Amino acid sequence: MRAVLLDAASPGVTRRRLRVVDDWPEPEPGPGEVLVGVSGVGVCGSDLALLAARRHPPGLPWLVGHETFGEITATGEGVDPGRAGQRVVVEPNFPCLACPVCASGRTSSCPYRKSLGFSEPDTMADRIAVPARFAWPLPASWDDGDAVCAEPLIVARAAIRRAAGVHPIQDGHCLVVGAGSQGTLLCLALASRGITPAVLEPLPGRRDLAVQLGARPVLGNDGGFSLIFETSGTGAGLSEAVSRAAPEAMVVLIGQSAQPVPLVTQIVVQRQLTLAGSLIYDHPHDFAEAIADVKPGAGRTLKACYPMEEAEEAFRAAAEMPGKTWIKVGSVISRARG
Ligand SMILES: [Zn+2]
Ligand SMILES: [Zn+2]
Repeated sequence: MRAVLLDAASPGVTRRRLRVVDDWPEPEPGPGEVLVGVSGVGVCGSDLALLAARRHPPGLPWLVGHETFGEITATGEGVDPGRAGQRVVVEPNFPCLACPVCASGRTSSCPYRKSLGFSEPDTMADRIAVPARFAWPLPASWDDGDAVCAEPLIVARAAIRRAAGVHPIQDGHCLVVGAGSQGTLLCLALASRGITPAVLEPLPGRRDLAVQLGARPVLGNDGGFSLIFETSGTGAGLSEAVSRAAPEAMVVLIGQSAQPVPLVTQIVVQRQLTLAGSLIYDHPHDFAEAIADVKPGAGRTLKACYPMEEAEEAFRAAAEMPGKTWIKVGSVISRARG
């Protein structure tokens, strides 16, 4: 079957490269697993970090991708065979569900968590095998665009849920820093709660898309925000987030970088700010709730779709274009089992 592999950089070149192979081994669904015929995979900032060698997979070549939807084509032992034919979105982080951290409900912090695309190879391939409980049936009202945006949208919703648990979310006091695909989806998720976030983004195309989805542009020295989501993962973004914060504000960090960033601690201390990281989502409730109550519409953030053979161009576009870029892998090979 076909698969998109991340390869080491050629000699003299720092950038890694992607190549499509057609002889990747077919996966088999093991006990408790389903085989998913992949329809599409979103390109995420963290995938771009792998290509740019800012993040490192366990080895190369490496099968990339993690924002995946498709259709169940076969079921492993112990899985309801009636699930074959279900259209599903994959929750690509598998906590152990047995340790004390998982028992506390914060499965995102599970020290044994496996992540597709990062610690585990997958999912930019024709077919993948995943644990059945992490393949979520999609409502018929979700189109392909909504489905490909589901995972990053749920990252955004989880950040809002966690912030709302400790800090009031007030309309007119919310700021989103960065309008890449994660920032744009965060604006959309806030707008769906009746909040009009201000958005700070230097690229006009990205800023315009966030505004179309319900945000308003930050004006000049706009400040005094009580809840700020930093999605750029850059030092400049964090500086903006902190400098525009009101006293007692909360700054939620979603964008991440391995590079040190400048931080004016005087502002943090004098304004008594809370800085909190928010990582992915917790199993199972974040996926369950989103799929039960999100109105389709996240697909409006999609701006470019590429065939699998043009994965390298898709990654390049994702780094520059407004909105989300995705790779259409194909339709399923077989709707029926066996
Ligand atoms: Zn992602
Ligand atoms: Zn665990």
